[in-house]
Amino acid sequence: MIEKGGYIRDILASTAGAPATAHGWVKTRRDSKGVHFIQLSDGSCFADLQVVIDAGSIPEDILKHVTTGACVRISGDLVESPAAGQNVELRAREIELFGPADSQTYPLQKKGHTMEFLRDIAHLRSRSNTFGAVFRVRNALAYAIHSFFKERGFLYVHTPIITASDCEGAGAMFGVTTLDMQNLPRVKEGERKGQVDYTEDFFGKPAFLTVSGQLNAEIFALAFSNVYTFGPTFRAENSNTPRHLAEFWMIEPEMAFCDLQGDMKLAEAFLKYVIAKVMDECSADLDFFNKRIDNTVLETLENVVNNDFVHVTYTEAVKILEKSGQTWEFPVHFGADLQSEHERYLTEQTFKRPVIVTDYPKEIKAFYMRANDDGKTVRAMDVLAPRIGEIIGGSQREERYDVLLDKIRQQDLNEEAYWWYLELRKYGSAPHAGFGLGFERLMLYLTGMKNIRDVIPFPRTPGSAEF
Ligand code: ATP
Ligand code: MN
Repeated sequence: MIEKGGYIRDILASTAGAPATAHGWVKTRRDSKGVHFIQLSDGSCFADLQVVIDAGSIPEDILKHVTTGACVRISGDLVESPAAGQNVELRAREIELFGPADSQTYPLQKKGHTMEFLRDIAHLRSRSNTFGAVFRVRNALAYAIHSFFKERGFLYVHTPIITASDCEGAGAMFGVTTLDMQNLPRVKEGERKGQVDYTEDFFGKPAFLTVSGQLNAEIFALAFSNVYTFGPTFRAENSNTPRHLAEFWMIEPEMAFCDLQGDMKLAEAFLKYVIAKVMDECSADLDFFNKRIDNTVLETLENVVNNDFVHVTYTEAVKILEKSGQTWEFPVHFGADLQSEHERYLTEQTFKRPVIVTDYPKEIKAFYMRANDDGKTVRAMDVLAPRIGEIIGGSQREERYDVLLDKIRQQDLNEEAYWWYLELRKYGSAPHAGFGLGFERLMLYLTGMKNIRDVIPFPRTPGSAEF
């Protein structure tokens, strides 16, 4: 049996004088006269445990393997540390070597590797300072999201990952099939003669990986009042940007008996809650991001937590942008979608805090958003945050059967595919609203990391699905 010693996090919080056993991976080793220093990490916290080894106290055939990357168990006594930033250090009595790491070939030897290089060694990058911090924050953020909804009585619903309903359309879906690609069954006769015969496929029709759980979440909101999804989402868009992944995680709350005002209130409370929680639980990790990755991280997070969000309509926002005297890469006028340069101007120059823009022109928003009486706009809202722009997109949903059916027909959508979505408006419809938020986009915001590939453990992007 392996006797577990306890996390380094806990060891660092104990007082000098007690014996301790630490397990972990050697980050660095420094030899000086009569003594060796080791920085040991087990991932449980940002700080490493400093281990001091007196020369001669550990057999040389073990000590020679205690190098960067090696995995060891070290038992000894906690003593007060003379070094700054730590209370205790471990004076080694005994070292057991679990796994050595050849110092000639260990890829994570040097400091200052590029993010690109680290992506190529995703099986080892999680042992680095940066990725340790990233994935502890990711864990704390996921947990904070669930607590936020749990404290408010929301039901957590698992919406399907495979969908055959062809609703979301948008052309950016991954197909899911068991058909033999080398020998596809073909329709033998009729109008579709020669095309692939999906009746022979696993689900009897084309199937895809989901691009959003919203429509399914609406079903549950109209039974459980307040619900949320938090699950994987897939988009086969061939956009090689620092903000897009082919596989990412999305959070989608949906509330019955709720209008756009309630939706905005929830979005603001949500962001403030989860950011404050992570700032509280991962302060050492966030300090690191602020010092080494982006020195505006803490300032912008505090800005979100401490300020009321501003509300402006899209129409007002466009007026502000038109009058700004700025030259835009993308021109602004009523009817144009706001680009990230506009979103950043509103949050960073005009209001200097998060801004919620509402009531967008119906042409640039989805069919399910509730029509306003002006005939021109819909009850949509985007939450824009300083430094990043859009972070949340939501809306009040169209709950009126006739209006929704009109919309589906106007936009040339497949009416039959939406049969159940329409029926929800026929039987016990209710005003309802919700929003969607990309988990990794929020991670970028919290950490200041520049590339979305570096805030998910194993990124999937065009041409890349390693590990
Ligand atoms: P974008 O304009 O950035 O591509 P979108 O308009 O396609 O976003 P939505 O369809 O509204 O996004 O999806 C909801 C949320 O999911 C977005 O606000 C964003 O946070 C996130 N998101 C969308 N696409 C991706 C992606 N490819 N990778 C990671 N997150 C994404
Ligand atoms: Mn997109």
